[in-house]
Amino acid sequence: MLSRAEALAALQREAFDVVVIGGGITGAGVALDAATRGFSVALVERNDFSCGTSSRSSKMVHGGLRYLQNFDLGLVREALVERQLMVRLAPHLVKPIPFLVPWFEGSRKDRLLGMGLNMYDAMSLRNPRARRRAAREAALEGGEYWSPDRHRTIDAEEVVELIPALAARDPSSAYLFYDCQTDDSRLVLTVLGEAVRFGAVCLNGARVVELIEDGGRAAGVVCEEAESGERFAVAAANVVNATGVWADRIRPEELHEEEDVPVIRPSRGTHVLLDRERLPMNAAAVLPAGEQRTIFALPWLGQTLVGTTDNDYEGDLEHPEVSDDDVHYLLDAVNAFFGSDFARADLAGAYAGVRPLISAADPKKSVDISRKAELYETSSGMVTITGGKLTTWRRMAKMVVDRLVEREFREAPCRTHEIPLGHPVDPAALPESPAVGEAAREHLAARYGLFAESVLKICAERDELARPIVAGMPDLLAEVVVAARHEQARTVADVLLRRTRLGLLAGRRLLEDRDTVKRVAKLMGSELGWGRRETRAAAESWPEVVAAERLVTPEPVRA
Ligand SMILES: Cc1cc2nc3c(=O)[nH]c(=O)nc-3n(C[C@H](O)[C@H](O)[C@H](O)COP(=O)(O)OP(=O)(O)OC[C@H]3O[C@@H](n4cnc5c(N)ncnc54)[C@H](O)[C@@H]3O)c2cc1C
Repeated sequence: MLSRAEALAALQREAFDVVVIGGGITGAGVALDAATRGFSVALVERNDFSCGTSSRSSKMVHGGLRYLQNFDLGLVREALVERQLMVRLAPHLVKPIPFLVPWFEGSRKDRLLGMGLNMYDAMSLRNPRARRRAAREAALEGGEYWSPDRHRTIDAEEVVELIPALAARDPSSAYLFYDCQTDDSRLVLTVLGEAVRFGAVCLNGARVVELIEDGGRAAGVVCEEAESGERFAVAAANVVNATGVWADRIRPEELHEEEDVPVIRPSRGTHVLLDRERLPMNAAAVLPAGEQRTIFALPWLGQTLVGTTDNDYEGDLEHPEVSDDDVHYLLDAVNAFFGSDFARADLAGAYAGVRPLISAADPKKSVDISRKAELYETSSGMVTITGGKLTTWRRMAKMVVDRLVEREFREAPCRTHEIPLGHPVDPAALPESPAVGEAAREHLAARYGLFAESVLKICAERDELARPIVAGMPDLLAEVVVAARHEQARTVADVLLRRTRLGLLAGRRLLEDRDTVKRVAKLMGSELGWGRRETRAAAESWPEVVAAERLVTPEPVRA
């Protein structure tokens, strides 16, 4: 990625075919799709890339078994096709994971769920001939073809092997099916990285405050730069609003006055993280959570991730708080299911996010509102895309760019189904580095793919850089340098929440261990030319971010 200074200069100097507002997965996808079809592209993000909903998801790349209940078959099928494609395009980042729906003594196999799983299989499996062809194609590209096995019923022994945390509950059996998971924020950065490779200019810390008009048509945007507060213009023939839950805040008068424009109904979803040692899982589980709702518990980056809630939300969109009610709801479900006794003080971390759901005329609860994407073009010609899912980003981007292509009478078919997202690398094939152990090498390969080689080179710059940021976790101090040097990270929260995910995985430890946070700030400062005062202020800003979103609350950890 260009440095912020370079990107800022390019945005002011050049005129673009397209400017994308919003650096979440949707904006990143539009930037990639447009750049690969020959458009010159600018992307501006108000705060940090993926800081909105795209770093706060359940991290699943999935069809969404539960949307089958609403007979949203088109949406599920589309998402399952995308899931398959993502595993092929980014195998290091999007990985299959087994899901279990167990049952216990005294309860019976849920036959309705079995029927749902049959449908899920049928929708995700390709016919044998298509499978063989896809496997051959993948082999020619030097990769592997993943196709989920059909769901099956497994015995008690296998359940406990996959979910050791259930051993004490003595499960009788379980359904086993497959979905995929990812690191949502890294997926956004990877898609952005590819967009940049195709010439897109991306800048964070640049909030759009106005649309530029020429004869009533959108002709660019005015941005405010976060650090200087200065305004600058980006000239572009097309403006795409990909601001998710904020979509109706860009030109509200234009959006709200036009009748067919759907209304966004924000819905908050909370997740908590628990130490994997206390809740060991090698597969994901679907847990009952009352009123016929279910939640998930999944192994994620060395911890156990539990979520999610789904409630209408009217609070602050920038800093959605982890509420006590949501935490209790999740922990009650976990404790009932695993026979555990987790309390809020036991959380390793937590986060909340807000879904950009599209409201139907009928004001139902958010769980019933569509996850479909909506695209609308308003009077100025601005194209707004919102709703949808992390999984379906590529389809959403295609919808937008198809519209731009049509508008400009271009001949430019979509190519994103064949563009690899980063390059996978075998950790064993990475250059030897005595200071970097096996776990860290595996971690680097999974996060960066081939770029892990460059991270290892940075490790070699100074001994200190090959050390972990947080003891016992694989993320290295060199990644702080990578974030500041190559990924436009400009705050400690950018590094701890979105370049690495330590702020979620080890939120409580980071709150208690101020030295680690200071070390991160110092390394960032030496890359970004901060003085002593700026470095101190950067370190001190971390607890403020934690408090604003109640990522962790400072209860004492239980003995
Ligand atoms: C709790 C939860 C769990 C979820 N789980 C899953 C899941 O497991 N799988 C799945 O497929 N989907 C999931 N989703 C849905 C998915 O996360 C979202 O659909 C997706 O991330 C939305 O991406 P986006 O880019 O449209 O929005 P965002 O990620 O919110 O991006 C919009 C960006 O626009 C920026 N912006 C706003 N205003 C301006 C401005 N004026 N100028 C410049 N930039 C601006 C914001 O800062 C933000 O970064 C989940 C959502 C939630 C909330």
